[in-house]
Order: sequence, then structure tokens, then C-alpha cells
Amino acid sequence: MMVTIAGGGIVGSYLANLLSQSHEVHVLERQSPEGFKAVCAWGTSYHEMRRLLEEVDLEFDEYVLHVGKRMTVDLGKEAVDVPLKGLCTFDKRRLILDLHRRIEVSYGVEVKRAENLKGELAVDATGFHRVLLPRLEKDYYIPTLEYLVRYREPPIDDFYVRPLRPLSGYLWYFPLGNGLAHVGAGDFYKRHVQVLEEFVSRHDGEILARVGRPVRITPPHMTRPHSSGSVFGVGESVGAVYPVLGEGIIPGMQSARIFHELLNESKLEEYERALTTHFSPYYLAFQYIRKKIRKEYRTIPDVRLLLGTFLHMKLNEERYGMKIRLRDWLKVVRTYG
Ligand SMILES: Cc1cc2nc3c(=O)[nH]c(=O)nc-3n(C[C@H](O)[C@H](O)[C@H](O)COP(=O)(O)OP(=O)(O)OC[C@H]3O[C@@H](n4cnc5c(N)ncnc54)[C@H](O)[C@@H]3O)c2cc1C
Repeated sequence: MMVTIAGGGIVGSYLANLLSQSHEVHVLERQSPEGFKAVCAWGTSYHEMRRLLEEVDLEFDEYVLHVGKRMTVDLGKEAVDVPLKGLCTFDKRRLILDLHRRIEVSYGVEVKRAENLKGELAVDATGFHRVLLPRLEKDYYIPTLEYLVRYREPPIDDFYVRPLRPLSGYLWYFPLGNGLAHVGAGDFYKRHVQVLEEFVSRHDGEILARVGRPVRITPPHMTRPHSSGSVFGVGESVGAVYPVLGEGIIPGMQSARIFHELLNESKLEEYERALTTHFSPYYLAFQYIRKKIRKEYRTIPDVRLLLGTFLHMKLNEERYGMKIRLRDWLKVVRTYG
């Protein structure tokens, strides 16, 4: 088949590499390769990423920048040290550009309408913008701001996060090696700029870049339709983002795999069902986070949302790159009400 993919971010590029094994693929990307920005903290889980990239014959180890041992969750009065199981940072920009080199990409093309695209099938991989699919009636997203900072003496040597009350976002510090770090914050209540500025002014460092954009946390259960005519959405365009963490790299690549498999089996009519089934734990996690954000969470009636989210992560520790312990969760929950 001839497939046009709008958006050459991590998900569109990965999908193009999967599809190019048996289809004719063309990616349209609005950025240029020189100025290409992969807006993200570049954090992921080593094991899952390695598996996903093996499918397109790429060695993830070549892109890894820092492998964490522990993540400090700063709760204010106390801190929780979460042992890590593969949480790492990687050079996402270089990986995307390497994925581009193996396929046909047209740069500097801003896609606006599906009608103008060539091919039998089009894919919306434009992330938050979702330019080719119908606008969502209800969309939930977290505004963010992130700095790339160079430290002569890094203030923290491993992953660090500080959740914001009432679990409406968090500040992050993700080491990138060689004294560099992505320091950012996102908050539903828009206090992220202030929180980030406070952190950056307390620790001496040189700010090399400033980026920011919203992250969609509306899960696939609520981003229907996932297709419209011959256009199918993958990645953040259809809400493939884990709402508790705002983590969209692995979920987006998983959505690309689902699309690829169904296309090869000529079963694309099952895409919506497959997507919602795969991401059903995300719907539960979203309901938990939404209740926390709205300050509607009630300990007894809503306990299934908390336990369901905990269990999902506990059963997928390698996938999330961290050890999930009940006592850590209870400390966070107790601190944040
Ligand atoms: C500050 C921040 C930090 C984050 N940190 C992490 C993290 O550490 N780990 C993690 O897993 N997730 C993180 N995320 C989420 C993650 O970055 C995204 O969910 C993921 O990149 C989504 O991938 P995507 O390819 O679907 O969309 P995107 O990465 O947004 O890529 C979309 C691509 O489409 C292009 N495009 C957009 N509109 C058009 C158009 N009209 N025409 C042509 N091209 C277009 C864009 O230029 C871009 O290249 C973070 C997000 C933010 C904002």
C-alpha cells in the first residue's frame, strides 16, 4: 500500500520504519532536520524501548545517555527513593533523525488537510495537534515548560521529581550525562513556570534551550474517533500517553505496532477496539488522576482506581523502568490527600 504519514516525530518515524518493510511510505514533517526539536524530557524504559527498536533493526544502547539507579520523589517533608529497573534518558532527537534516514521524509511541509495527501492511506502522527482527525469535544492536557541546562556541578546525580498538589503535575530533573539535564515542570493549574523558575534559580546552571507544549492525557477511550475515512491516528494524536506520568514515547510506539499489525492482517476495522483494549489501564489511571486534579477523589469509593493503577504498574515494572512498592505509593497518597 502507499501510506502517507503526517508528522515525523518519534511515533510517525517508528511507524514509517515498521511499514516500509512491506509498504510504500512517505513522511511529511513540518520541521527541518537542522532545527529539529524533539520536545520531551527524553526519559524512557530501557527494556521496552530496546524490544521496540529491535523490530526496526536499531540498537537502543547507541542512544542511551544516562541509566538511573534511583528516582527521588520529593514529597516536601520527606523523600521517597524509588529503585529503578531501566529508567533512562536517551538522545531522542538523534534517534528520530536516524529513523528518518531509512525512509522518505519531506521536511518543511505543514499538513493541513487529508484531502491533499497522496496514497491510499494516511496516518495522523502530528501528536498534540491531531490535524487530520476531528477535533475532540473534551480534551485534557497538561501545559509544560522545559529547560536544557548545563551544570558545572550537577545538583542531583539521578532522576528527581517533585509532585505538585493535588497531583496535578510535577517538576522533573532528568540527567542527560556530561553535566546536562532536562529540567521541566507541567501542571494542570499552570503553576509550572513559577515552580521551574524557583528550582532553576536555586541551582546554578546555564540554560541552553527553553521549550514547552501541552501534553495530552486524554486516554484512547476518550479520543474517538481514532480514524476518519482513510486517516488513522497514532501516538499522542489519539491519546497514547500514560496519564500518571505524561509519558508518551513507549505508548505511542505501541500504538504504531498495533496499527502495523492490523494493516498487515487487513483488519484495520479492528483498530479502535484494539487500541482501547490495549490502553484500558490508561483509562483507569486517567480517571484516578482526573479525580485528584478536580479534588474529587474519595478514599473508600475510589480505592479501585488507586489500586488498579498501582497494580498495573506493579505488574509492569520493567515496562515502566522502576520498582513499584506499595509503601512508596501509600506515602505519596498520604502526603497528597
Ligand atoms: C516537556 C515534555 C516532556 C516530556 N517528557 C517525556 C518523557 O520524558 N518521556 C516520555 O515518554 N514522554 C514524554 N513526553 C511526552 C512525549 O514527548 C510525547 O507524548 C511523544 O513524543 C508523542 O509522540 P508523537 O510522535 O505522537 O508526537 P510528537 O512527538 O509531538 O511528534 C509530532 C511530530 O509531528 C510534527 N507535526 C505537527 N504538526 C504537523 C503538521 N501540521 N504537519 C506536519 N508535521 C507536523 C511535529 O513537528 C513533530 O515532529 C513529554 C512531553 C513534553 C511536552
